[in-house]
Amino acid sequence: MKVVKNIGFLQNEVAKLKKNGKTIGFVPTMGYLHEGHLSLIRRARKDCRVVVVSIFVNPMQFGPREDFKRYPRDMNNDVSLCRMYTDILFLPNAKTMYSDDFLTTVEVSRIGDIFCGASRPAHFKGVTTVVNKLFNIVLPDVAYFGQKDVQQAIIIKQMVKDLNMPVKIKVLPIVREHDGLAMSSRNSYLNNREREEAIALYRALILAKQLVSKGTINCHVVISKIRSLIKKVKTARIDYIGIVNPKTLLPLKTITKEALVLLAVFIGKTRLIDNTIIRRR
Ligand code: AMP
Repeated sequence: MKVVKNIGFLQNEVAKLKKNGKTIGFVPTMGYLHEGHLSLIRRARKDCRVVVVSIFVNPMQFGPREDFKRYPRDMNNDVSLCRMYTDILFLPNAKTMYSDDFLTTVEVSRIGDIFCGASRPAHFKGVTTVVNKLFNIVLPDVAYFGQKDVQQAIIIKQMVKDLNMPVKIKVLPIVREHDGLAMSSRNSYLNNREREEAIALYRALILAKQLVSKGTINCHVVISKIRSLIKKVKTARIDYIGIVNPKTLLPLKTITKEALVLLAVFIGKTRLIDNTIIRRR
């Protein structure tokens, strides 16, 4: 595994690989790697001749009062986790990614302004801008994202389509802890009690599935029932709960075929997100 910090150096490496017809699979991350990240990296390893992983805690996608400074980092562990599956580990720093005269951003409207975009106003602009830069540097054939950040995945697919970017986006399932909590680097912020209470997000999604399978298809009713379930947890504060079309993120009134249930909940000071797709036959 080559560890590369310099953008120009990586672009030279990529040019050589492309010239030799190698397919490049790319997994962008912010590090503090867990099984969720590794599922993407392993899949890239299966699909592609060359696997590039990036670790970059992107300052542009954090709001001024968010957790950029304290975001968990463990570079030594990340490097050793990547080693088995990765050909190139790209570790740029903020100065090289955003020079002092940096002026250009990429923004996806409407679907970037709702749910997480409403709670974190500059977040998706930061995400799409950095993913754009990373795609231009790595020139991947396939890029891998997690269903865990479903709105992010939908926004990136939209950007790739709208801007005719020559990359295939693959979205892989959410990897969960034994009790159902979606794996996340931010779970490390939770104390023991919060960790137990965080299971409320998963329980809410399971309840939504059960309600629909028993015939409750009115989204308003489903949302109010899962809201009550989460409210029973003292340290929980709901940011949003939505039931939407999984492709457009437009709200649904009733669940007829396919619906995406997505939610964001603060457990203490930690904001967690989770989602599930409900399919009716
Ligand atoms: P992050 O490091 O949080 O920016 O995540 C990097 C990539 O890993 C994103 O595409 C995430 O959606 C994905 N990811 C994070 N957590 C999980 C998980 N529990 N299961 C599957 N993919 C995940």
